[in-house]
Amino acid sequence: MHYNYCPKCGMKLTDKMAGDDGKVPFCERCGQYWFDSFSSCCIVLVANQYHEIALLRQMYMSDQFASFVSGYITPGENAEESAVREVKEELGIDIERLEYAGTYWFAAKELLMHGFIGFASKADFRLSSEVDSAAWVSALKAPETMFPDRPGNAMYPIYRKYLKTVGLSEE
Ligand SMILES: [Zn+2]
Repeated sequence: MHYNYCPKCGMKLTDKMAGDDGKVPFCERCGQYWFDSFSSCCIVLVANQYHEIALLRQMYMSDQFASFVSGYITPGENAEESAVREVKEELGIDIERLEYAGTYWFAAKELLMHGFIGFASKADFRLSSEVDSAAWVSALKAPETMFPDRPGNAMYPIYRKYLKTVGLSEE
């Protein structure tokens, strides 16, 4: 998000040089720069000991088992805490080991996605009301229903890292 008005006092911002960053919107009244901002999310591929991954079906997005757990990082927590919390909230699953899987820019929503692979023991899901259903799906079959592999979809780079990590890909 690019600021034209000060989010604190509402005054129109002026461009002011800010060192190496060049011109940045500045509030004369508050004496503060307002750098472009974006939200941070976590996205977690949850996998069990049988090489199955958790796919979520959320009817407002798709009628397929198409997505991984994801959610906004809230102020005060780090990306890892957010990943563990979201998996617990959405699936009722406890992550036993978390691996970082890189960051991805999602331009359509101006989001920085923090990717993780979360390893857990297979258990029944206890779903939040945000999730219509979820399934443990054989990892190699997951792409049959996952959202399509296209630029901006962080699921696939994380998925490929997972395959490599557990020795399911030949790369
Ligand atoms: Zn201001």
